Amino acid sequence: MDRKLDHLKIEGKDVELLPEFPVRFACIEHFDEELDDYVNDFEAAPDTYRADLIEDESMDKRCRACGAPAKIALLKEKGM
Ligand SMILES: [Zn+2]
Repeated sequence: MDRKLDHLKIEGKDVELLPEFPVRFACIEHFDEELDDYVNDFEAAPDTYRADLIEDESMDKRCRACGAPAKIALLKEKGM
């Protein structure tokens, strides 16, 4: 499920997000597919981070496509 947040701690930094864009996760295998989906769904290219840099233990960091542990986070930063 998509999570919508207005900020997130990434690698110790508080990063402001555009809350209308969800945070999604993808494994390496599905990254290209998820990137295309994000652009199609929200008409904007997401910013990407390594999933393990996202410091939110409550977040379900599994690939949206296959449920495997995710390697990449897709989100949209404010002002980017
Ligand atoms: Zn996957």
